[in-house]
Amino acid sequence: MSKKILITPGDGIGKEVTSSAKEVLDFLISEYQLNFDVTQMDVGGTSYNKNGSPLTDDVLNIAKESDAILFGAVGGPEWDDLDWDSRPEQALLILRKELGLFANLRPAFLFNELASASPIKNEIIKDLDILIVRELTGGIYFGEPRAIVSDETPPYAFNTMIYNEDEIKRIAKVAFESAKKRGGKLCSVEKANVLEVSKFWRSVVSDMAKDYPEVELSHQLADNTAMQLVLNPNQFDVIVSSNLFGDILSDIAATLSGSIGMLPSASLNSSSQGMYEPCHGSAPDIAGQDIANPIAMIASLAMALRHSLDQQDLADKIDNAIKSFIQQGHRTKDISTTADYIKTSEVASIIIGIIKNG
Ligand code: NAD
Repeated sequence: MSKKILITPGDGIGKEVTSSAKEVLDFLISEYQLNFDVTQMDVGGTSYNKNGSPLTDDVLNIAKESDAILFGAVGGPEWDDLDWDSRPEQALLILRKELGLFANLRPAFLFNELASASPIKNEIIKDLDILIVRELTGGIYFGEPRAIVSDETPPYAFNTMIYNEDEIKRIAKVAFESAKKRGGKLCSVEKANVLEVSKFWRSVVSDMAKDYPEVELSHQLADNTAMQLVLNPNQFDVIVSSNLFGDILSDIAATLSGSIGMLPSASLNSSSQGMYEPCHGSAPDIAGQDIANPIAMIASLAMALRHSLDQQDLADKIDNAIKSFIQQGHRTKDISTTADYIKTSEVASIIIGIIKNG
């Protein structure tokens, strides 16, 4: 049976980096005779300009039928003044919600050759390899009730941070399973010292530990983890956290590795359907200049092959090719320490060449 892939380039450099990933995907399809059915459609501001909506029903329906969505990036100053419902970011939020993509996997790793591009001292980040598992469809970002109450004195606003046991268990399961396949360590992060929802989170995750005797579980308070990620990031293997804390911690972790242009992400539901996107945005400051780093998007394709498309070997081939690409000294502008760099549009053919040469 064929696997369905939807590519949504979006806005700004989203178009450039998805074009590189598609070049690699097209090569794999023809080289390994993969039975993949690939569709490309607009989302975000580009879709708003053409269709008056950041995500049309057509795109949503095709996304729902797809095994994997390769999502570039959306947004830009051109659309900043639109109403909330028309803003490019809605495309992402609606897809996450409609597809139930509750598990966000964000690896943060360092190629030691690029250590000088990181703001952190070499000896602290050497060999960095962390996976952050963030809950993506619950918690305070979606909790009800929520409101800004402006007709009272003083005016006030509030949100609700809420998790039920099932939501915690399903994200913790993804994290325990990931830790089992990696270094066998899981750190669950919350604020159990001040929040009831965090206390509950900690007790549910602790209860699950007995089903994973091979995984060493620890708990940490989110403010401490923010500090520890900078002071001693190599103490972590897998981190699991709620939507809010995971959002903040994964951005800190992304900064460690030097360029945001290197880091992929996956958002999965319980049927292994997934949306795969780079950690960065549409970078309007460099869009259209052929200088964006497409590695995060190409590495996101590798994650799609691994988690949604049953092609573990090909995922490994891409990851190994990216490693060789860096070891051979190829540098896009963001990771170059000299005036020399290669263009976005040159990266895919180098990666393909490395895969071809084994
Ligand atoms: P950004 O990630 O787009 O850019 C931050 C900085 O990193 C910029 O200086 C940019 O040039 C650089 N950068 C980002 N990706 C790069 C790459 N691949 N290669 C080289 N340099 C890269 O974040 P921002 O500037 O805060 O946001 C710009 C727009 O993107 C906004 O409209 C924002 O809403 C949107 N955004 C979208 C997503 C998404 O689609 N998932 C995520 C974050 C931001």
